[in-house]
Amino acid sequence: MELIIEHLTKTYPNGVQALQDVNLKITAGMYGLLGPNGAGKSTLMRTIATLQEADSGSIQLGNLNVLQQKNEVRKILGYLPQEFGVYPKITAEAMLDHIASLKGVTNRSERKDLVQRLLERVNLGDVRKKQLGTFSGGMKQRFGIAQALIGNPKLIIVDEPTAGLDPAERNRFHNLLSEIGANTIVILSTHIVDDVANLCKNMAIICKGQVIAEGHPAELTAKAQGHIWRKVIDKSTIEQYREQYRVINTTLLEGQTEIHIYQDEAPSEAGFTPAVATLEDVYFSKIAEYMDVVTI
Ligand code: ADP
Repeated sequence: MELIIEHLTKTYPNGVQALQDVNLKITAGMYGLLGPNGAGKSTLMRTIATLQEADSGSIQLGNLNVLQQKNEVRKILGYLPQEFGVYPKITAEAMLDHIASLKGVTNRSERKDLVQRLLERVNLGDVRKKQLGTFSGGMKQRFGIAQALIGNPKLIIVDEPTAGLDPAERNRFHNLLSEIGANTIVILSTHIVDDVANLCKNMAIICKGQVIAEGHPAELTAKAQGHIWRKVIDKSTIEQYREQYRVINTTLLEGQTEIHIYQDEAPSEAGFTPAVATLEDVYFSKIAEYMDVVTI
């Protein structure tokens, strides 16, 4: 099954153009949608999840017209929103049972089996009798995935799933996502580049409502090799470097400031050495390039 998005556009009543002629073709497997805050990711996710209207354009999922056949789409959709609210006093088991019945699993024993299987799958079997209010952020997210998996969805959308998780929880969440069937389209919307680098075979970068890069993470990274140069500088000189070069990233390295710049030729200034390009370099260079174009 494929998800094909064509010419999708959305402007909010306050004039913000959240989506500007978005075109994407997404096949089964993990797909990363990467972009800074405010890029339009949630707007796109909510529109695909049939929760919001677009102004124009189309979304096709297999043979379904997503913008029109909303009920049919909802039957094969699993959605984990950015803010996944849970009722704090209800146990994981009871809540999942309730959601399963809302999603149409009416047979009681079938539902009981399903709930147990899902809780085991997301590694919450041991805490199924615990109230959701006692769960950590990572446990809540895994619970969110369990509810999104009810009904064997063909399309799963997860919006900013690892924000606020500690590294161990994030790792567990990643493993869970990557286990979800190869026949399912999983769209992972995030501003965390490593999540996409670690998990996704295809990706797009979105900025100010526009798709500014698309492809395989490894191929996009390979294209940037030979264009990224690094230098450790005195922090107070950073603005001078910004004026002179396309500085795409600054990191603190053992208390010192390291900059990455993007340019085709090696800089003549002493101290620059070639850097092995990472997906983060690709991400920041694409955004810097886009910002330059739109501000000129
Ligand atoms: P992201 O998920 O990438 O952070 P969003 O889709 O949430 O981006 O937002 C895209 C842009 O649309 C932002 O500028 C945001 O402020 C604006 N926006 C989002 N929702 C609304 C809304 N309901 N009304 C007006 N503006 C909105």
